Amino acid sequence: MSTIRFAALQESINRVALKIEEKEKRSVLFGKNVFNKHAMQQYLTKSAYESVMNAIEKGTQIDRKIADQVAVSMKDWAISKGATHYTHWFQPLTGATAEKHDAFFESINGSLAMEKFDGEQLVQQEPDASSFPSGGIRNTFEARGYTAWDPTSPAFIFETTLCIPTIFVAYTGEALDNKTPLLRALQAIDTHATAVCKYFDKNATKVNATLGWEQEYFLIDDALAQSRHDILMTGRTLLGHTPAKGQQLDDHYFGSIPLRAMNFMRDLEQESMLLGIPVKTRHNEVAPNQFELAPIFEEVNLAVDHNSLLMDVMGKIARRHHFKVLFHEKPFAGINGSGKHNNWSLSTSDGTNLLSPGKTPMKNLQFLTFFVNTIKAVYENEELLRASIASASNDYRLGANEAPPAIMSVFIGSQLSNVLDELENVTIGKLSPEEKTDLKLNIIGKIPEILLDNTDRNRTSPFAFTGNKFEFRAVGSWTNCAIPMTILNTIVAKQLKDFKKEVDVLIDDKNLKKDEAIFNVLREYIKQCKKIRFEGDGYSESWEKEAKKRGLSNNKTTPEALKVKISKKVIDLFQEMEVMNSIEMEARFEIELEEYTKRLQIESRVLGDIARNHIVPVAIKYQNTLLENTKNLKEIFGEEYKNIAKEQIELIMIISNHITEINALSLQMIEARKKANLLHGLASANAYCNNVKPFFDQIRYHCDKLETMVDDSLWPLTKYRELLFTR
Ligand code: ADP
Ligand code: MG
Repeated sequence: MSTIRFAALQESINRVALKIEEKEKRSVLFGKNVFNKHAMQQYLTKSAYESVMNAIEKGTQIDRKIADQVAVSMKDWAISKGATHYTHWFQPLTGATAEKHDAFFESINGSLAMEKFDGEQLVQQEPDASSFPSGGIRNTFEARGYTAWDPTSPAFIFETTLCIPTIFVAYTGEALDNKTPLLRALQAIDTHATAVCKYFDKNATKVNATLGWEQEYFLIDDALAQSRHDILMTGRTLLGHTPAKGQQLDDHYFGSIPLRAMNFMRDLEQESMLLGIPVKTRHNEVAPNQFELAPIFEEVNLAVDHNSLLMDVMGKIARRHHFKVLFHEKPFAGINGSGKHNNWSLSTSDGTNLLSPGKTPMKNLQFLTFFVNTIKAVYENEELLRASIASASNDYRLGANEAPPAIMSVFIGSQLSNVLDELENVTIGKLSPEEKTDLKLNIIGKIPEILLDNTDRNRTSPFAFTGNKFEFRAVGSWTNCAIPMTILNTIVAKQLKDFKKEVDVLIDDKNLKKDEAIFNVLREYIKQCKKIRFEGDGYSESWEKEAKKRGLSNNKTTPEALKVKISKKVIDLFQEMEVMNSIEMEARFEIELEEYTKRLQIESRVLGDIARNHIVPVAIKYQNTLLENTKNLKEIFGEEYKNIAKEQIELIMIISNHITEINALSLQMIEARKKANLLHGLASANAYCNNVKPFFDQIRYHCDKLETMVDDSLWPLTKYRELLFTR
């Protein structure tokens, strides 16, 4: 009997839901453990407070004396809340978060002690960073890495540690993390969006990009997850026969949340409140044991930090509830995978949403400007946008008929499509007063009404306009949002920069009025980027064919998708926007490829191990039972046994066949892996993608067949129905 599986099942059946009390109103909990504006006002001197605010709003430097003051206040605040340690909290290129805790405690002369934390410790640290991926940056320059305080994301306390969000850079200045390029991209979008905003509002001073992510995840009983080493090592199941019941009855989506899961969510929400993560919605998702959580949107840098923090906290809180959270994009074959929709918009400092039409014709033209420029940016950089969400795990989800395909397109709904179609007819050059009135009243003037009753939603589009924001739906649930957000904001910033240049030329050289110039440029953009607009079924085969005709890329695998990141066009773009230089771009390309290769390598090893060391022996054991039974039947019934034991004999042969296939395929896979391991970079990733990965499904097929034949009490792996339906 398979002891681990049945012990785990027993354990999971005996679970009782953890009691969760609502100690205080959520609004009272909110931000309690964050050194936010409110806490700073209480703890900082007026000048220190203003200095930090200026750093947040205008990016000014905080001088050393002020940093000392802030550090002391931060320490006092943290200690008053029970913190004993502090850490620079950063996001190395592993995609996860990193932290190294130091105690505030310091001894004086060996006998006395005190709590200490000064500006130097706040502003900059040098973690031993040699084990983080650098893509060769540090080797090339023989430089060390340091973390530096990012005052735009407030410090917070988790458990008993004061966490200070920081960037992570080499001494030579190259970014070694995901946050630094993101901050630079946000600077670029601020600069260029503000410049365009000035056409509509002379006093515009700042534009923030906003992000509201929606995190999907699976919750699996911890004991059951522990019983499957594929889940532990790779985050997904590499084997498992589809259960009789999956999601075909649609009875999980938005259904009542199971008690244990509900209590986990309430616990998580309370912790999120303390950490200032404004979580708002929770619900069941389509697949059994799949859920979603979404906050109120925030400025992008903060939203990205909050998502990374939340993913970390989720894992810890899940343990308390004897759950394991799966963030993998496709943990189970045959049922939906998980994504992380990135809702994105632009907002001025007074909170005006630039992707929302306004009350005046000018405000509507402003909306249209940002709307069309975003579509144009996606068109010009569709392949790069695809690359921004590429990963080994997301490859299993994209195009699997539950998630957008690997083709990027923009959905805007039929009514806005009509508006854009009409705008293609705007007169070239100067506009007559009649035309201007018509445009302002009848075409763009109608936009607010259109959006009010715009219920048009296309769930199959990777990039959909949803009334007042774009929803980037191809992002994977495991992805660090910093990567797609860096790319999206960079391409839109570049587009806005080009737009401004073109409009200014028309105003200065062609003597057009501002609105005429804008209409003229937008008209051309609408015509140029038509190919990226698609309103139909993104999951259909016909779209794949149509997209090919339109010349859109369809990079189905990560190695194919990533290549564009080191193309001249993309490197030039990032250099021009001062987001990353070629060294930083190439380093990321290398790291992402390597991560891809390693993930497939691990999957291949784990699969080979499970198939040959767990499944095959059990199949042989069961086959022996059948053989024994057949022998006994022969002994008693003589030649008659051939009829009586017909089923057994057939099964013995089928099992033999599957065992032979599993062994042969596993050996071939090992050979393919050995060859792939001798290669480097893109060649190795391609070899894994094209020569190793295809064995996964083949080996799985035979193992899953055996699962349907072998005595259930012998089967070593916890089955899908147990993983997915044990609450
Ligand atoms: P749904 O798409 O489920 O109908 P909403 O459209 O209200 O729900 O919002 C979905 C997500 O979009 C939420 O996470 C929300 O925070 C985010 N969102 C709403 N407005 C914006 C915005 N201006 N910028 C970025 N994200 C936004
Ligand atoms: Mg959504």
